[in-house]
Amino acid sequence: MLIGGQVVEGKGPEEEIVDPATGAVIRSIADADEGQVDEAVKAAEMAFSAWSRTPPGERAAMLLKLADRIEAEGDAFAALEAKNCGKPLARAKADEIPAIVDCFRFFAGAARTATGSAAGEYMAGHTSMIRRDPVGVVGSIAPWNYPLMMLAWKICPALAAGNTVVMKPSEQTPLTALKFAEIAAEVLPAGVFNLVLGRGDTVGAGLVSHPRVRMVSLTGDIATGRKVLEAAAKSIKRTHLELGGKAPVVVFDDADLAEVVEGVRTFGYYNAGQDCTAACRIYAGPKIYDKLVADLASAVSNIRYGPQDEDVEIGPLISERQRGRVSSFVERARAESHIEVVAGGAAGEGGGFFYKPTVIAGARQTDEIVQREVFGPVVSVTRFSDVEEAVAWANDSDYGLASSVWTKDIGRAMATAARLQYGCTWINTHFALVNEMPHGGMKMSGYGKDMSMYSLEDYTVARHVMVKH
Ligand code: NAD
Repeated sequence: MLIGGQVVEGKGPEEEIVDPATGAVIRSIADADEGQVDEAVKAAEMAFSAWSRTPPGERAAMLLKLADRIEAEGDAFAALEAKNCGKPLARAKADEIPAIVDCFRFFAGAARTATGSAAGEYMAGHTSMIRRDPVGVVGSIAPWNYPLMMLAWKICPALAAGNTVVMKPSEQTPLTALKFAEIAAEVLPAGVFNLVLGRGDTVGAGLVSHPRVRMVSLTGDIATGRKVLEAAAKSIKRTHLELGGKAPVVVFDDADLAEVVEGVRTFGYYNAGQDCTAACRIYAGPKIYDKLVADLASAVSNIRYGPQDEDVEIGPLISERQRGRVSSFVERARAESHIEVVAGGAAGEGGGFFYKPTVIAGARQTDEIVQREVFGPVVSVTRFSDVEEAVAWANDSDYGLASSVWTKDIGRAMATAARLQYGCTWINTHFALVNEMPHGGMKMSGYGKDMSMYSLEDYTVARHVMVKH
């Protein structure tokens, strides 16, 4: 772990880190104990005074150095991530590492452009101005699906804005965060970035309830978000929550069928569907429905899943527990007489936690498979009769993170997109993210934005300074 600039061993219980492609233990790592969480927060607090006053250009230079180091060691980072998460190595290298490096570079630049406004005279004889200042020590808690990318999304805006951070990665996937911590120890002043490892209900909860942590940023499950909110309420902490999704994909009859099928085949199953924006809840128009189901079933049956090799498209689920969860969703859906599992629907072969890419046809709006986040390679398809029904069903969800609309009619696309209650709507695509644009949810998907200038704002406080003439 990294506490106050020192790389240290945890003093808590040992955690086994498992390779999901084989089920074998990669290594054991000790968690932080309560005292070490406290030390990390104190180190961050000590570092805050100098870091928050470091000129943005100097903070930016350090973020750029971190970007260069990650880029230079990109293959090693990708290999670690692929091993710990079971991701195809080629995807980790080509998709994740460049996006992570770009996140550091974007926020290095953004740090230098953030401004408060010189406001004016709102009381006679006084000038007011608005500053945007950092919040203080931020506790950042990440999930296991994109460990290094989630670390980047959290720490880049926080550090760029002048906060100091204590980061806790998922207990299942700490390996790239550990490697990053070694680099951070060389590049950043002691205490600016601290890394503590361990479980959510011990180390995570310790961070959330620590009185000197001023803000908590969590990406995780709704249930975890609720616990974090309850704990944060005791010390009135600022919270920033990204809590999953169940993305509707509205396909009108005039959509380009081949593009839809290719899009869902890619964006519904990427990262084995363990993605909060996954294109997993298809609503198809009455005329396109039958052909879409047939073509999607055949396209999805050809997805190459399995252990690492050059051609593999998706890997295993993160754990046996997650595979069991996915499988039980599919079995409960299969038990409904109106549902047909037209592709997959079973565990994959081999020793790892594989699950076959699955398509569920005939799903109804009230079905569990349509309502709840599966977080696996499972896509449902539901037939709608008209645009009103499509929009109502798409919005009828506790989640509000991502959505897409597929049609050749630009007017219909714009009108439908305007009515969707989701943080993001793509038109004729899905999934694409850029560091310049905000990513975050509505409804129970949480609040607060990752990436973009909105994220930088989330990690700052607007302050009023008034000068008497
Ligand atoms: P999780 O909620 O189980 O865990 C997330 C993190 O919270 C982990 O580091 C965990 O240790 C920690 N945690 C758990 N209980 C805690 C507690 N009581 N106090 C403090 N920390 C605690 O989620 P997961 O299973 O790791 O990840 C999957 C979930 O994350 C899915 O629901 C997914 O949709 C969501 N997710 C959302 C986004 C997004 O951008 N909205 C991105 C990725 C993942």
